[in-house]
Amino acid sequence: MSQQSEVRDLQAALRTASDIAFDQEAPAGEQAEVLVDALRRALAAAQSLSDGPGVTGCREHPRGAVDPLYNDKDDPLPPGWGKCLLCNDRRRRATRGLARRGPGLL
Ligand SMILES: [Zn+2]
Repeated sequence: MSQQSEVRDLQAALRTASDIAFDQEAPAGEQAEVLVDALRRALAAAQSLSDGPGVTGCREHPRGAVDPLYNDKDDPLPPGWGKCLLCNDRRRRATRGLARRGPGLL
């Protein structure tokens, strides 16, 4: 979902929530349920805004884990490797596979 539609979702949900919350009477029953639902939607939309488009910068795993070795001074990742732990693990397995076959095959 694009950031703009997240903002629209957030605004719509908050508007619904405040309409109910600032009503003459305290929300009860069905109204209270609608309020909870609207706040939940607002929270989800706000959450995805704060998460951004994905921390890994990986198109395949935008919500995946970040490699703990990324930006590690003592044990840096090979050049060209990204932040995505899943992709880096795949690369690690591939490199190890090559190493196991030994230099004789290269
Ligand atoms: Zn990835």
